[in-house]
Parts: sequence; C-alpha cells; structure tokens
Amino acid sequence: MTTSWPGLEKGSGILKSATSAWRDFAVVTTPSPWALAKGVLPEPRTVILATDLKRKTLECLRERVRGASMIVGVGSGLSIDTAKYLAKTENAALAQVLTTSSNNACFTRTAWTFEGNARIPERDVPFPRQLILDYQVLMQAPVRMNQAGAAEILCSHTSLFDWRMAHAASVDVQWDEELCRSTQDELDRLDDYAPAIGAGECDAFVEIIEVGAKFARGFTTHPKARFNSGSEHILAWALEQQGGRHLIHGEAVNLGVLLMAHIQGNNPERAADIIRTAKMCFQPEQLGITWPIVETIVMRLPEFARNVPWHTIITEFDRRGEDGRHDLASRFSAARDFVRRLR
Ligand SMILES: [Zn+2]
Repeated sequence: MTTSWPGLEKGSGILKSATSAWRDFAVVTTPSPWALAKGVLPEPRTVILATDLKRKTLECLRERVRGASMIVGVGSGLSIDTAKYLAKTENAALAQVLTTSSNNACFTRTAWTFEGNARIPERDVPFPRQLILDYQVLMQAPVRMNQAGAAEILCSHTSLFDWRMAHAASVDVQWDEELCRSTQDELDRLDDYAPAIGAGECDAFVEIIEVGAKFARGFTTHPKARFNSGSEHILAWALEQQGGRHLIHGEAVNLGVLLMAHIQGNNPERAADIIRTAKMCFQPEQLGITWPIVETIVMRLPEFARNVPWHTIITEFDRRGEDGRHDLASRFSAARDFVRRLR
C-alpha cells in the first residue's frame, strides 16, 4: 500500500520504460489518450472507456476491474477520477498516466462523483503507486487543453479570498498562514511562465503539472482548506453541469475566476492579465455557451452551492436570502460588463 505521494516520473519517451513491468492491470481511459498510449503500454487485461462520473455508472464498472493487480487512469479528469473511484472501492493499487496538463485531478485524493444534481466527494482514494508524464504524449494534446491547465493554479486567486472569508466567519477550514503564503507565491510565480504557456512550450506545461504536484501535499494535509478551489470552481462545475455543452474544465474555471474575482471585489484585472498572457479561453462564446445561459446559472448558484460542502462567498449570498439575491444580481451585471470588455 502506497502511503504518500510518489515522485512524478517524467521525460520524453518515458512511458515505455515506466510501464514495462506492468502485468494484469486494468486501464480506464477515453479514445484520444488511449490511441496515443495503447501501442506503448504492455497489454492490459481490461480496457474501460470512461463515459461519466455517475455513481450508478461507476458501480457497474467495479465488476469489470475486479481482481486486477492495478487500476491505471490514462487521460484527463474523467479517466483519472474513474480510476480513483475504482481503485478505492475495489481496494486495488492505482497508477495514473497524465496525457495533458489540463487539470489537477491526479493530485487530489478525492474522486468527484454524481447522484442527480448532487456532487459527492469520494474521499481518501489510494495514493497512486506511479504518476507518469511522457512529454511526447503531453505535446500531442490540443494546445488549448494544455494551456487551460494554468486555470488550476490561477483559481487560488479567488479561492484564497473565500478561504480567508470562511476563516473570518469562524468556519473550521483548517486556516494555515504558511499554506496561504506558499499558495500566493505560486500565484505570483505564474507571471514568470504565463508567456511560455501562451507560446505553447512543453516546459511551461510541465511546470503547471509540477505545481499541481506541490499542491497535492496541501490537499492531503488540509482537506478542508479552500486554498486551491472555491467559488470559482462551484461556478465552473455549475457551467459544466448545466451549460448544455462539454466544456474544457480550465476554461470554465477561467470564466469562474474572472466573474467571482469581480464579484468579490478582488482585483479581477490581475487574473485577467494572467489569462490573456497565457492565451487561455474564457469568453462564453469561445466556450460554446452564451451570456444569458451564464446569467441563469449564476443566479441559481446559491442553490447549486448547497450541494457542495464548502463555505464561500456564495454561501454568504445564500444566507442573506432576498437581499443576497439582489446583491448577487447587481454584482454579476458589473462582472459581466468587465469580462465582456476583455479581449
Ligand atoms: Zn479544477
């Protein structure tokens, strides 16, 4: 049983050597990443194509991986979270093969699952035995997806605000000055490599993943701390669930960061600078949705947020009832005007 985070095995062409001893393992993946990895990995005993994170779907998959020596996620968030859930429920070892820098799912011990509209965290999934990043695979992912991964760092801009606010409201959120400061340092450091992210450089995408690996320790020691996901993620998830389109997670997070930073009165210009330098998408039309859809979702956010066990600025709007609704509506309208003007 692995009891701490393994080092990231990274390099160009490393996938073959890092996996050559694998036997009798089950793969959880999606078609594009699997097309890249299939010829390099030893033959798995089972390959599961992940489709969604509904508890019912996940429960049905358990039988198909039963008895495998290890469950391996190959791909992005959907594959990674499915592999996490199956490794936990089937008490199996876990390994993750990263194929993009688009999200940080492989560095948390929570698999997010769904039952109806409720978002249910499956906590304490096993630590992976191996985390593998092959640059040749990484650079075949769409550049837009890799760039969107910077949103998983930038989201701390708004989540640190929520975390501080929850602490001030005496909610038990494992407040920690040192974790707050080190997270702020990572936010500040984004300036250094945002231009390289914008230019689509491999080193910058690897850096995004390395920061995710650093945050992994904080997720483990401070599971209640909102240092790297808060109201912007709640909004991003609502957009993903209710927007009627498949969204790139980081891009939904970017729109969430911009709107929530403005609603928080928390220097949205700073977040906008990073997003534009890193050439990440954030306008609803780039994401395939519309402002009226975004507005509807934002106005339902206090209700939606009751399904997420976090205290954020949205909780405060909800607590204030009708007055909170009016306040949210007028703050959203100003935030929308701000985002619209960004080009
Ligand atoms: Zn995220």
